[in-house]
Amino acid sequence: MRFSRLRLSGFKSFVDPTELHIENGLTGVVGPNGCGKSNLLEAIRWVMGENRAKSLRGAGMDDVIFAGTDRRPARNMAEVTLVIDNFERTAPAEYNNEDTIEITRRIERESGSAYRINGKDVRQKDVQLLFADAATGAHSPALVSQGRIGSLINAKPQDRRQILEEAAGISGLHTRRKEAESRLKSAEGNLVRVQDVVQAME
Ligand code: ATP
Repeated sequence: MRFSRLRLSGFKSFVDPTELHIENGLTGVVGPNGCGKSNLLEAIRWVMGENRAKSLRGAGMDDVIFAGTDRRPARNMAEVTLVIDNFERTAPAEYNNEDTIEITRRIERESGSAYRINGKDVRQKDVQLLFADAATGAHSPALVSQGRIGSLINAKPQDRRQILEEAAGISGLHTRRKEAESRLKSAEGNLVRVQDVVQAME
């Protein structure tokens, strides 16, 4: 899965619309302290469906929205789009008809997030599954933020297993299993209700 562009608007320090082209090969982001390098990695994690504000260095999810400076007022909305080049069909099979895949997440203050894949409204889960099926995602060990190396070394065996499952591309199965279990539970509930109705009619 090759990321080819990242677009940000109102996300943390990136108040103005900004587009980054990610070329083939190794990309380095350089700049003085506090210029927003880590914010870029957090934008990638956020658009992949990160739902823990803490891992984006915030107290609540609204903290990703540009908070204003002495010279510029705060914004009420942030949006990040990640463009994936799928010419070599490296994305999960259900996207085989798409040459590019654009994933957008938008947040409005006090209204939560909305997601789109190629312009179509989707659930957070759909975005998370897309990345999980491609063996990556907001919690992928491939996204190494400051302090992460230390936490990986000290990780509990269970957390390490999560890393291996991600590398094997099977972490999406857990979400699907949970979904299937909750559908089964509600079907069982319906069945009990039907039995009650049948008994009442007999
Ligand atoms: P370093 O090299 O020190 O690690 P960096 O280049 O990685 O720094 P970041 O940590 O990405 O920099 O960016 C920090 C900057 O982002 C700070 O100036 C901070 O004020 C700004 N920032 C973070 N969140 C917001 C927000 N919601 N609104 C406005 N600015 C923000």
